[in-house]
Formats: sequence, structure tokens, C-alpha cells
Amino acid sequence: MDKDSLELPLSPLFDGIYSVLDDIPNFRMLIGGKWRGAKVGSQFDVHTPIDGSVIARAQMASLMDVDSAVTAAKENRGIRDLPGIERIDIFNCAAGLLDQHKDEFARVLQLEAGKSMRDATGEVEATAHRLRLTMEEAKRIFGDYVPGDWSHDAVGKMALVIREPIGVVAVISPFNYPLYIASTKMIPALLAGNSVVVKPSSSNPISALLLVRVLEASGVPEGCLNVVTGKGEETGDALIKHEKVGMINFTGSTPVGKRISQMASMKKLHLELGGKGYALVLEDADLDLAAQKCVFGSLKFSGQRCDAISAVLAVEAIADDLCDKIVREVDRWKFGDPRDESVMAGPVINQSAAERIHGMVMDAVEKGARLLRGGKFHDSYYEPTVLDDVPVSSVIAHEETFGPVVTILRPKDEDEALKIARQSKYGLESCVFTRDFYRMWRVAKRLECGEVTVNDYPSHGVGYFPFGGIKDSGMGREGIGYSIDEMTNIKTIVFNLEAGGLGKKEQAAAACKTGGLRKARTDPENGK
Ligand code: NAP
Repeated sequence: MDKDSLELPLSPLFDGIYSVLDDIPNFRMLIGGKWRGAKVGSQFDVHTPIDGSVIARAQMASLMDVDSAVTAAKENRGIRDLPGIERIDIFNCAAGLLDQHKDEFARVLQLEAGKSMRDATGEVEATAHRLRLTMEEAKRIFGDYVPGDWSHDAVGKMALVIREPIGVVAVISPFNYPLYIASTKMIPALLAGNSVVVKPSSSNPISALLLVRVLEASGVPEGCLNVVTGKGEETGDALIKHEKVGMINFTGSTPVGKRISQMASMKKLHLELGGKGYALVLEDADLDLAAQKCVFGSLKFSGQRCDAISAVLAVEAIADDLCDKIVREVDRWKFGDPRDESVMAGPVINQSAAERIHGMVMDAVEKGARLLRGGKFHDSYYEPTVLDDVPVSSVIAHEETFGPVVTILRPKDEDEALKIARQSKYGLESCVFTRDFYRMWRVAKRLECGEVTVNDYPSHGVGYFPFGGIKDSGMGREGIGYSIDEMTNIKTIVFNLEAGGLGKKEQAAAACKTGGLRKARTDPENGK
């Protein structure tokens, strides 16, 4: 296929999940084992950030469609009843299909999210790798044996503590890693025996729809995996309020996450929300390393990452040197159409995102920041931007940027840098650059966030290390085994062993023979 074409590459594996109308593929939804349209028949356009043109249409699921999907998920427990080893066979097959269709998935990601081919391929590979790691971890869904011996109250009993699926898991995913993030929720949920209803971002739902097709074709039992598409306020809302949903696994912005937590009633929640990643660069840092990492951490995928470096806190003593090095690094980043393989910074998701970023940059400039590079946009293309000497009072000093801006603040010293970082309402991740072991440790301990990276930009890769936020950045932990734990409930089964001659009475009688103090301690009636 021509690399400049904006046509979606769709091989025969995906026949049946879309039809072509006016040269545009119209995607259906998988509900109760059938790929079908919305009941009331409405659809929405999917635009590519590359030039804003319509590359696909998807269904606008109504309340009725969401109800059908959740009901199908609730009634179809096939995945739960399958022996674990057979679930693994299904996911082995899915991993093979992902490998086989890697280029197709990468191209779809490039078109629907505006990613460079390198970033898009990286996302597909991370998805397949994470899937394989999750399969390994699923084989360790065990439990605990708890003897009652260590409490007078529990003597003569024992318990098995087991992990069970929750039931229906609602997955709601964001636009920035539309394939990977949806997969990190659907796959552990299904491997743990849950049924799933997924609602991908309406900005770019296509790769998630293709992934659902891959899982269906690999043998996920009918009705256990459902996908509904539509706008968050309508389709998403209907899903989170549905009484048959047992858990909501959401990744997205903090305002939407807060709204979900208010509406979720007693549903189990896993919320991966927004962040403000600070990079503290201290006097003894390797400045070449820090500059390179701070720029990469700020600009990769145009800064549209929850783990992006969102502000650099350069202590006064090294701020001039660091700033020069940062500008030199930024000048190496080619900006433009992501289909050009030499381009490192492409568009943001749409023009309104570019306008939002511009508002924050201009606010900082008006409050006294120096604009060293960029600060301009056309359509959804925001230039890589460097802001120096940003006052703490500017919005961009404390709000999530989600755009290609290197924001430099100049605190006096380590204490002042920590004060700025600790004041943040977010608590996702931050990083520190220093050569001093004790400072690394001190700063890491004092930062209030879910993850601290030392001498690198924060990056999740395949999610090998546990990841998640505190404060306004969410609740729950992602990670290979951690995600499985989140999507299971603990059940305790208590066995009374009296009938087998191992109960309280026998132990008390045996203790009587020893008499004295020992008897007094073991007699269950003692002290009443
Ligand atoms: P978003 O606007 O919050 O949307 C996320 C998802 O929620 C989308 O599917 C969206 O649907 C849906 N949604 C919107 N309003 C809803 C509602 N009222 N009820 C139910 N669902 C609703 O976030 P985004 O712009 O796609 O993603 C960027 C944000 O995600 C950033 O803040 C970023 O930090 C965060 N993020 C966090 C992590 C993490 O691991 N902590 C990872 C990635 C991204 P529509 O698309 O139809 O609006």
C-alpha cells in the first residue's frame, strides 16, 4: 500500500466487522456474539489527525445497545467455565494473530492516532509482548491457605482464600494508546475469567475494534467479549451506570475519572488518570543525559502520554547550561506529517487539543515565561515548544500539558523543587537526575506519586513494573500480575475441622491434660 494513502488496510480477517459506504469503512459493534449496527442506526465520523479527513465511521451505541452488551456479558460465563489452560490456548492464538497482522495494526494506529511508524509499531509490539507476559502471570492465579491455629477464636478451623472473577468488567480507554491500553484491561480481565464490555475512545476506536476481532477469532467464547462505540457522555455514561457491571476499569482524564467515581455506586473501580510529571534536575546531574531525557520525555508522541515529563525543575546553579542543551536537543526533532519516516513529532489528536495547549503556552508567556522555541500551530500540528523561566503561577506549571512543550521552571534548590512537585494535585510519576545515591533516595522518598524514575524519563513500556497514581491521578495498580489482582475478588472459604477430630473441643481436652497455665491459655471458655 502507498505509504501516503489514508486508506485503512483491512485484511480478510476483518471482513464482517465493517461494510464500505461511500468508500469509507463503517465499523459495527460486537454484542452477544454478533457484529451489528446501533439499534437506532446513528454513526459518527473518525477523523485522522494527519489531515483531518474522515477515515472511518463507527456506531453510536445507545442506552439499548449498551444494555444488550452488558446483559450478554452477564449471561455468558463461558470464559469463566473454561479451564485456565484452555484460556491460555485462546490467548496464544491471539498473540500469533497480532504478530501476523502487526504491520496492519501499526498502519491503523498511524492513521487514527497520528503516530510515527516507529511509535505505532512499538505500540503493537508492546501489546503482543504484554499479552504473553499476562498469560504467564495468569498461570499463577492461586490463593492462600490460612491455618486457624494462631488465634483462640479460630482454633479448629482453617481457610482457603481464593481469587474469583468479578463478573462484568467495563473497560473505558483513552485516545493516546488506543490499542495497548484497551488490551491491558481486556486481556487480564478475560484471562481471570471475567466477561468484558469495552468502550474505546471515540477519537480513534478502530484498533480496539480490530483487537476485539482478533480475540473473537482466537476463540473467546461468544458473548463474553463485547465492544460498544460512541461518545463518552452517552455510551460511556450508560456503561458506568449499568447495574450489572461489577467493575469499571478506566483510563483517561482526571475530570472524567472523578465523575465516574461519583456515579459508580458500589462498583469496584480501577482509575488511571491524568498526571503532571516533574523532572527534578539537581546540581550534580549529568546534564547531557538530563537534557536528552527531558526532551524525549516531553516530546515523545507529541507529549500525549500520561507519563510525559510535563515540567522540568532545573535548580538555579545548572539552569542556564541545561536550558542551552535542551534547546539544542529540541532543534534535532523534525516536526511534521508522521508518514515521513524522519519526522519525530507529529500532530496532536485534533485541532481543539492544539488550541488548548496554545492557551497554556500563551498564559505562561503573559505571566513572564520566555518562549525559546515553537509556540505556534496549524490545524492539529503544534510545534515542539520550549518555555523557560516559567512562573509557578502559570497554569502550565501545575496542569497536565498533554502536548509537545518542554516547560522549564527554575527553583532555587532541591527543597524548592520538591516543594513545587509535592504541591501538585496529581501523583502519577516524576523523575530525578542526580549522581548522588543519597539524594536519589531522599528525593524518591519525598515525592508524592506512584512511581519515581531515577536518571531517566518515566516510561511504562510493556508495563513490566507496577504503575498507577495517588491523589488526583487515580486508584489501583496496573502491571502484569497487579492487573489480574485488580480484576479478581477474594473469597474466603472457612472449614470447621471439628468433625475430623481436629476441632476446638479436642484441642481444649488435650490441653486439659497438660493442666496449669497452658490449660488456662488454650481453654476457649477462659476469660469469659
Ligand atoms: P478522556 O477524555 O477522559 O476520555 C477517556 C475515555 O473516557 C474515552 O473513551 C471517552 O470517550 C470516555 N469518556 C468521556 N467522558 C465520559 C463520561 N462522562 N462517562 C464515561 N466515559 C467517558 O481522556 P482522553 O483525552 O481520551 O485521554 C487523555 C487523558 O488520559 C489524559 O489526562 C491522560 O493523562 C490520561 N491517561 C492516563 C493514563 C494512566 O495510566 N494514568 C494513561 C493514558 C492516558 P470519548 O472518547 O467519546 O470522549
